[in-house]
Amino acid sequence: MPDEAGWLDLPPERMRELGHQAVDLVVDHLTGLRAQPVRTPATPADLRHVLSEPVPEHPADPGLLLELLTREVLPRSLRLGHPGCLAFIPSANNFLSVLGDLLASGFNTSPGAWPVGAGPAAVELVTARWLAELLGLPEGTGGVFTPGGTLANLTAIAAARDDRLGADSAGGVLYCSDQTHPAVLKACHVLGLRREQVRLLPAMNAEPVRQAVHADRAAGLRPFLLLANAGTTATGAIDPLPELAELSRAEGLWLHVDGAHGAAAALTERGRTALRGLAEADSVAVDPHKWLFQPYEIGCVLVRNPDVLHRAFTIDRFRAGTDYLTVSRPAATETNLSDHGVQFTTAARALKLWLSLKGFGVSAFRAAIDHGLDQAEHVAHRVAVSHELDLVTGPSLGIVCLRYRDGSDETQAAICRHVNESGDTFVATTTVDGQLALRLCTINPRATRADLDRVLTAIVTAGRSAAV
Ligand SMILES: *Cc1c(COP(=O)(O)O)cnc(C)c1O
Repeated sequence: MPDEAGWLDLPPERMRELGHQAVDLVVDHLTGLRAQPVRTPATPADLRHVLSEPVPEHPADPGLLLELLTREVLPRSLRLGHPGCLAFIPSANNFLSVLGDLLASGFNTSPGAWPVGAGPAAVELVTARWLAELLGLPEGTGGVFTPGGTLANLTAIAAARDDRLGADSAGGVLYCSDQTHPAVLKACHVLGLRREQVRLLPAMNAEPVRQAVHADRAAGLRPFLLLANAGTTATGAIDPLPELAELSRAEGLWLHVDGAHGAAAALTERGRTALRGLAEADSVAVDPHKWLFQPYEIGCVLVRNPDVLHRAFTIDRFRAGTDYLTVSRPAATETNLSDHGVQFTTAARALKLWLSLKGFGVSAFRAAIDHGLDQAEHVAHRVAVSHELDLVTGPSLGIVCLRYRDGSDETQAAICRHVNESGDTFVATTTVDGQLALRLCTINPRATRADLDRVLTAIVTAGRSAAV
């Protein structure tokens, strides 16, 4: 038997060659987006045709495999960074972050335990501190990075539950609006909060919330959490944070803000104004893989008093019999991030955010977010002066909802289908007050005013033919 175990190794020159090929393919993708359709649909049968093969027992040429993936597989998607994509929350990643992910995966060191990944842990700590400062959160705020908004919200809700209800969450009740993202309700479910422990209110104004809290207390229940939205996914709506902050203090409730989409707007002056009260939250969830232009996955939960995270998630609460993990214990001044969140081993996912914030400077991010807000204002203005369109909601945190004036819900749906079939634009619909609206999310920094004008023209043209 040879001494060197090279089964999964490649010669250094071949690694460089393949690496260059992969980078070239990514750069071609990023710089060629505009020339691509916004979406290439694919049926399961299409992809089975490409991918259904026996287990690959023997090696294949990796260069050809990279080509196969980038030619046949990855393109069969909605291109969320395409300037014509206004559906969902568009995600226009940036190349420095892509390189951050490459380094994170290449060096493969995990920030979860300080003795294991001190360097990447330090990057997470400093990047979380920057993020807190950029959102205007108070000094001392700390947090952890997560795979996304779902886990960021889950982490916050678990911390709030432990902090306010202790070991037994029986009878605990939380309050949120019926516009809350399903991910948050799923997180509640995963945490073992039953459906009747979640009060879904039509609006989160302080007075009705106070009444609901008092009624629940009178019934022997234990209100513990106000869950506010800073940018609902449907309309970008913001719950009244200052009055909810006041209510939460008066009632001894935890205030968590789901800012997965919207919190990043606080980097700008307009956004900071719209999100007044955010700084008073006990915790905030924000998704850098949305409006901070990071590749998936990266979410973040920021907590005013990070000790609460530590008490909720420290490994010492969860040790079974074995003690083999003692070598990963941090020294007094060190932080084990796995003691502050759900996961143990994690990717060094803050590296990409650190690298892009440093490499472009925060001013570039601020300008890019501001552009998204400008774009939404432009759309709202165009709709307001149009004789054929009605403004339904917004602009709010980069989201505008509108309707074709002389059309039913069916007309709006037909417009959406028609516009999306064109291949250069992709929009969504959502229901607002029982009526179907076209929803445009304008946060892609690479989309221009002309791109939006083109979308509006397409909507009007489709509306004229759908309405007759
Ligand atoms: C996207 C989003 C979520 C879910 O976050 P993921 O990153 O998809 O896990 C939760 N809440 C809001 C408001 C969102 O926009």
